[in-house]
Amino acid sequence: MYISHYDVRLFYKCPTLLYLNLHGPQEEKQIHPIIKRRKHYTRNSLLDSVNIEQESQKAISQMEKGKKTIYQCWISKENLIAKADRLDKIDGSSIFGTYSYIATFTRNTLTPKKPLLMEGVYVTHILKQILDTERDEFNVQKQDEIQQINITDYSQQLEEDLNIITEIIQGEREISPNYVRTCRVCEWRYHCKKIAAESSDLTLISGIGGKIKKKLFKLGIEDVPSLARADLNNLPRDLTSAADFDFFIKQAQSLTQKEAIVRENIKFPKTPIELFVDIEGSSHHNFVWIIGCLMRRNGEVKYLSFLANTPKEEKEMMVEFSDFISNLNEDFTLYHWSSAEPQYFKSLFTKHSLPLKKLSTIQHSSFDLFPIFKSKIILPLFTYTLKDVANFLGFQWHDPLADGATSIVLFDKWYLKKDKKSLQKAISYNSDDCKALLIIKDYLSKTLSAE
Ligand code: SF4
Repeated sequence: MYISHYDVRLFYKCPTLLYLNLHGPQEEKQIHPIIKRRKHYTRNSLLDSVNIEQESQKAISQMEKGKKTIYQCWISKENLIAKADRLDKIDGSSIFGTYSYIATFTRNTLTPKKPLLMEGVYVTHILKQILDTERDEFNVQKQDEIQQINITDYSQQLEEDLNIITEIIQGEREISPNYVRTCRVCEWRYHCKKIAAESSDLTLISGIGGKIKKKLFKLGIEDVPSLARADLNNLPRDLTSAADFDFFIKQAQSLTQKEAIVRENIKFPKTPIELFVDIEGSSHHNFVWIIGCLMRRNGEVKYLSFLANTPKEEKEMMVEFSDFISNLNEDFTLYHWSSAEPQYFKSLFTKHSLPLKKLSTIQHSSFDLFPIFKSKIILPLFTYTLKDVANFLGFQWHDPLADGATSIVLFDKWYLKKDKKSLQKAISYNSDDCKALLIIKDYLSKTLSAE
């Protein structure tokens, strides 16, 4: 049984992911639309595509000949196999004589995160055995810059983890999921959320990851109900603050009691006009394609969409929106979700040299609904996305499976293939987002009213 660099990378991304990809119920896997657009590898497709023995022999013979640079080569030692972006010839003794090799990885960062870091450690671990050297380094290259990474501190961890990886690949060790933020775009997100919910896993609480979960386990707090009963004064302070633990306990209580917990009342601005705004950008083509705006004035609600079909139309769209704001002639509050909208406005006004006075009017009238959750009110929810919150309040999107990422994919279909239906769906999704903002604002002003 081989262990490949792919297995190592996956393991450090999430050990459950490595297990589920090989032994999980494949019918429950749902590849996210955003990931679908990328080339999708599996362990089998990778290993089936190559004759390991032949390829690694080829690399050895190139090293024997002292080739200066060896690109995209497979190396192996017993059952450990890996593909290196590049091997560079360097000074130093090795089995081949007075020269040696170092692995170089081309990345878009010089400080790779754990999965890519450990992949480098793993490749170096194999290379050291082939070359019979003690050289403990590999290179990461970003364009013209090269960073050398020493693997000494990680080698022991890798050696211990290789045993666990072997057990996972052989199906002898199942790893239960830690349901964290990054799970949202994973193909196993529904499966893992279900498993975590069935066991009331602590990682379902927003902000609790593997490390805090381990710490709480040692204190006998093993699930959400036991956290709900915990005493704040007895919780450790080394991993996070008392304020975070206060939230964790209240979140656990809200989940077990299935009720909202109000932490603090707030006042909402009273303006004759309310705008509920959601902006969507095209990630591939780097422009904003829609400013969706649901306007409520004297109890009347109307949805308006400001569109740019191409990057060239972005300025026109922005001017149209800014004129619309100027022509309101009455005070307004612009409700949005998270910091994305203010950032979009700022960059669009700057990019298109639009009057900064208008930007300032928008900024002063903006009201972010997102930070109210957790800090002022806690809902019996695992995560606080716009969709989670609005769904909890009874609002349903026309397409219940769609999300922000789906909308990006839909717009791309319109942009690249002129598929009108996709554009209509993307606009309908945006309109639902705006309606969700209105529902949430009304709920909050009713529940958290300071008067
Ligand atoms: S959903 Fe999360 S826990 Fe489950 S496999 Fe994916 S990353 Fe791992």
